[in-house]
Amino acid sequence: MDKRKRVENVGAKTSSKLPLSVYRNIFESVPGLYLILTPDFTIVGASDAYLKATNTIREKILGKPLFEVFPDNPNDPHATGVANLTASLHNVLRKKKPDTMAVQKYDIPLPKTNNHKEFEVRYWSPLNSPVFDSHKKVALIIHSVIDVTEFIELEQTKQEQLEITEQLREQNKLFQAQMEQTAKELEAHEKNERELREIDTLKADFVEIASHQLRTPLTSIKWSTEELLSNRSNLSKQQQDHYVEQIHSSNERMIALIRELLDISKVDQENFTTSAELVWLPPILNQVLEDSAIQIEQKLIIVNQDIDPNLPMMFFDPVQIRLVFQNILINAIKYSSPGQTVNVGVKRQGQDIVISVADNGCGIPKEQQAKVFSKFFRADNARELSSDGTGVGLYIAKAIVDDAGGKLWFESSENKGSTFYIKIPIRYKQFAKKEDNGQG
Ligand code: ADP
Repeated sequence: MDKRKRVENVGAKTSSKLPLSVYRNIFESVPGLYLILTPDFTIVGASDAYLKATNTIREKILGKPLFEVFPDNPNDPHATGVANLTASLHNVLRKKKPDTMAVQKYDIPLPKTNNHKEFEVRYWSPLNSPVFDSHKKVALIIHSVIDVTEFIELEQTKQEQLEITEQLREQNKLFQAQMEQTAKELEAHEKNERELREIDTLKADFVEIASHQLRTPLTSIKWSTEELLSNRSNLSKQQQDHYVEQIHSSNERMIALIRELLDISKVDQENFTTSAELVWLPPILNQVLEDSAIQIEQKLIIVNQDIDPNLPMMFFDPVQIRLVFQNILINAIKYSSPGQTVNVGVKRQGQDIVISVADNGCGIPKEQQAKVFSKFFRADNARELSSDGTGVGLYIAKAIVDDAGGKLWFESSENKGSTFYIKIPIRYKQFAKKEDNGQG
């Protein structure tokens, strides 16, 4: 007899001799968690492992109804263990087939302490299978379970950790957004403060410039009048004319300065707006050139004109356009050296008229160009070259051109010269708007 055959024989011999009580012992000792139920759900058997896992004692549970031994945890209002298990056991009876249940939370009563029942949280993966009698009727139900509490708790912990991480991430995002917002607000606040400080400085400069410019002609008038009053008899006709001329030009400068101050307060008003009438630019520009003849001659500036004679009529406020052109022309003369050339050009460009004034003067330092249209601003080189300036001319000019829907800009290079461009729409902004809306 070979070795394999011998083992089989021993097995057969042993099993055929096993008494029934040994089977009971074997069942009770299997490592799995098993409970044997009658069709009316009375407990008739339990493996040691099951008793251990459920904190129960065999003698105390055998013969008892299942749900008397294992009721729902009364402290858990959501407990569904009894209902689910009942449904599954009924399924087994009805379908005569094993029924696998979803993982259940089914808390286990702890051994009695202080006379009231306490429960231990447990999760189970149960399987209920039928045992048939000789008539194929369900005689018993094997209720086998796997305790998955640790696994579920681990999963829950993982889930909780994930949730906490997510919450932290959200909080972090919120915190970061708040920080960014605060930083932005701080930056805006600082910028505001800086701008206010700059305006303060510019205002202080302006007061100094204005008072200096007013004082100079006033002193000149005072000095000339005193000479005329006290010394007239000793003065020749020519000398007298000279003093009168001085008084006149000083007076003119004061008037011009005060006009500038009034202009600035006008364009600064909230309801400032330009009006419009039908005008033809060439005579207006020529008038400005004529009015500036003294300054042009005094500095021996050569002015070249290239004004398109076929310019269309346009809608604009003639007083304002005069003011804009005058400010820019006077600047070109003021910031040029004696004998230099200023080129004035006027042409049509689509629906706009573009006036250009180009000089070869001191130019504007690159780093100061951005501030040129700011109120009271004067570039460093301009201050050195000419004390005669308030830094408001371009501010006013830009306010007027902007209001009329035009554009004022320049190109400049220090010590090489500047070209200023005034672009004005031919159609007045309000008429243009009406037409665009199909109303005009
Ligand atoms: P200001 O009375 O000082 O001329 P504006 O507002 O007319 O004031 O001009 C502002 C500043 O822009 C001037 O002080 C000067 O620094 C600069 N600027 C304007 N036009 C010219 C130009 N044609 N060439 C050089 N710098 C100019």
